[in-house]
Amino acid sequence: MKCVYCGKEYNEGGTTVAVSNGTFDVCSNECKKQVREYLNKDMQYKNRSYIMIFCGSIGFILSTFIFSGTYKLVPMYLGMIVMGLGLAIYPYIFSNFLTFTHYPIKKATLVVRIIGALVIVLSLFFLGATFLGA
Ligand SMILES: [Zn+2]
Repeated sequence: MKCVYCGKEYNEGGTTVAVSNGTFDVCSNECKKQVREYLNKDMQYKNRSYIMIFCGSIGFILSTFIFSGTYKLVPMYLGMIVMGLGLAIYPYIFSNFLTFTHYPIKKATLVVRIIGALVIVLSLFFLGATFLGA
């Protein structure tokens, strides 16, 4: 069996956790607690993560259709920072719990946070390059 939270393979001593679309294996009560916590936050913050991604995409539209010249891409970079923050702070973008049987929650949310952080760093770099003319 494989823990849906931490991804550990185990043979015995595990338990299960029931979610909306099924019952899944977890290796310990600690991981079970973490899954519940994840689900609570997911319910509480999912809208925020989607709203931030949506707001970020407005930057792409502004850059593509409205802005031009030297600062054409600035709205896009700002939008990317908003998106990156959304992913890093609220990595609750997974709509199907079955995802976690392949990518355990712990790993999946960490990867989303790292991607968010990288997007922020890259955007800041590009913004800096734009304004400093590098
Ligand atoms: Zn576990």
